[in-house]
Amino acid sequence: MNIAVLGTGMVGQAIAARLVELGHSVRMGTRDPQKTFERGAGDEGFRQWMDANPAVKLATYAEAASFAELVVNATNGAGSLDALRAAGAERLDGKILIDIANPLDFSRGMPPTLFISNDDSLGEQIQRAFPGARVVKTLNTVTARLMAYPALLGDGQHTVFLSGNDAAAKAEVASLLRSFGWQDIFDLGDITTARGVEMYLPLWLRLWGALGTGMVNVRVVR
Ligand code: NAP
Repeated sequence: MNIAVLGTGMVGQAIAARLVELGHSVRMGTRDPQKTFERGAGDEGFRQWMDANPAVKLATYAEAASFAELVVNATNGAGSLDALRAAGAERLDGKILIDIANPLDFSRGMPPTLFISNDDSLGEQIQRAFPGARVVKTLNTVTARLMAYPALLGDGQHTVFLSGNDAAAKAEVASLLRSFGWQDIFDLGDITTARGVEMYLPLWLRLWGALGTGMVNVRVVR
């Protein structure tokens, strides 16, 4: 499948590399492809990552979305709406939009706070701003490496959540997640359930702090 991964950070890199490994064609969206390509070894080493993943092509958000049948939002939460506006509503219409972003505000230091919470969520704001997109919130509750390789922790015996209004879109995303190795995929319901998975982040950050590793997740036991 042709997939756009919007975002060049740890999450974008982990998801893009995994999708290529699974046989998909990937365009990675960024604000300025040339500037992003030139990010050197002193920074995140993005150029080395590109060299190691030659099948992933860098593109503007609009070019990536235009190429894609399915779009992944792996941009910073504070910039997600801008990134998706740059991708263009008309290029998202009718497409599944997997939203991994979290509304984290680091402006007052660590730990970050949530800049959307309680009666709204970033997932809902994205769905409202792009009504033609089939938004599915998922994977935002685990660290990047675990998103792509859930079997690295507890033999894959832990839970990932789905939130979204479109049942068929959620079924397709569940199938993609299974191809990553996810076994326990919990459909929470419509996009308003994204509030819960976004408000889980303060607990996740404290688990990370207490354990000294982001390789941690929860399992729902019924
Ligand atoms: P990040 O540093 O949070 O985001 C990097 C990406 O955001 C870059 O591609 C950057 O664009 C884009 N971006 C930032 N501000 C923008 C703006 N104003 N307009 C357009 N694009 C903008 O990277 P990350 O750590 O990979 O996280 C990505 C998302 O996943 C975040 O929302 C994060 O909360 C969520 N998440 C992360 C983890 C994790 O393990 N890191 C786990 C769960 C969820 P350029 O490429 O142009 O610089």
